[in-house]
Amino acid sequence: MKTFKAGIVGAGIAGAHCAGTLAAAGWEVDVFDKARGAGGRMSTRRTEQGWATLGSPFISAKRDPFRSQLRDWVRQGWVAPVRGGVLHGRANLSWAQAQLQNHYRPTIEPSQLVRHVMGNARLHTGSRVTALRPRTIVLEDGRVLGDYDCVICSVPAPQAMSLLDALPLLRERLGEVRYRPVWSFLMRWEGGPAADVIRFDDSLLDLAVRQPSNGAGLWAVHSSHEFAETYLEACDMEASTRAASALMGLLGLPWPVEVEASHLWRHARPETTAEGFWVGDRENRVALIGDGIAGVGVERAWESGLRLAQAILQSKEELAL
Ligand SMILES: Cc1cc2nc3c(=O)[nH]c(=O)nc-3n(C[C@H](O)[C@H](O)[C@H](O)COP(=O)(O)OP(=O)(O)OC[C@H]3O[C@@H](n4cnc5c(N)ncnc54)[C@H](O)[C@@H]3O)c2cc1C
Repeated sequence: MKTFKAGIVGAGIAGAHCAGTLAAAGWEVDVFDKARGAGGRMSTRRTEQGWATLGSPFISAKRDPFRSQLRDWVRQGWVAPVRGGVLHGRANLSWAQAQLQNHYRPTIEPSQLVRHVMGNARLHTGSRVTALRPRTIVLEDGRVLGDYDCVICSVPAPQAMSLLDALPLLRERLGEVRYRPVWSFLMRWEGGPAADVIRFDDSLLDLAVRQPSNGAGLWAVHSSHEFAETYLEACDMEASTRAASALMGLLGLPWPVEVEASHLWRHARPETTAEGFWVGDRENRVALIGDGIAGVGVERAWESGLRLAQAILQSKEELAL
């Protein structure tokens, strides 16, 4: 019996879930990612005390099948529900407590969680893809891998556009998708309100989340989209200084904030998306998934990987792209 082969670009949650679902059905699956590990916008930073995340801090589920997937991950010990509330407010006004409904936090490194989701698929890290052609993946190192039954592109839409010169039908479908940026920082400070999550009602900063594996003191701080658009071309130092001073003002901190790391997510969240969970070019056996297609968030990205894999498996030899 023929073994089908899939090549997937991008080891974020969407590509990983598609890969894992196909691999579990007996497909040979190669996943290529330009980064050093899996996770994409769920990837983590190693610090001296453990790991911290500059990307998505939460995983939330609005509906099945992701709800039951999260329950399963809770049983496996990979995620836990967020207990307690979020402090919500702005400087010089009272802070209010709100509850986070259906929010979970990874208890293992999110990049490891994504690697688990990938199952038996082969992950090729440090492998930047420079072009996609019918059934074919072209890598930066010059390799042309051309015998796939199906090629799946699972990268943010603006990055996908540059790979799709040979696939005008897919380029056309992505034309409308726009993303907005976020600057993320790992910061330490003393004092401030007692909370694990602070949501700012502010034009510069959006969110601060205490990093669980590092004990007291280390926080991931996310800027607003407006801040990131203003400092899109700024260096790390300038963006960090601006964000730290905004934070000190918001929390009324007496001591300087220490910034340990920073990262600009140029394609943090899609503003507009294509329609449906995936789009495909059936004749050329190439499909697109991810949050730029399915809508923002881990849940939608995960489901786009699932829905495409199911469509491929249902179509058997007549791959339904
Ligand atoms: C700061 C921030 C906070 C967020 N907060 C939340 C939240 O609280 N809750 C929530 O649900 N969602 C949140 N999100 C959104 C969520 O992280 C994303 O919607 C989701 O992770 C997208 O997954 P994906 O697989 O579609 O893409 P990605 O995770 O971006 O994966 C794409 C992968 O493709 C790789 N890649 C790109 N180009 C190439 C190339 N040419 N060759 C090889 N590999 C390539 C990248 O390295 C990356 O690993 C947040 C995002 C950010 C940035």
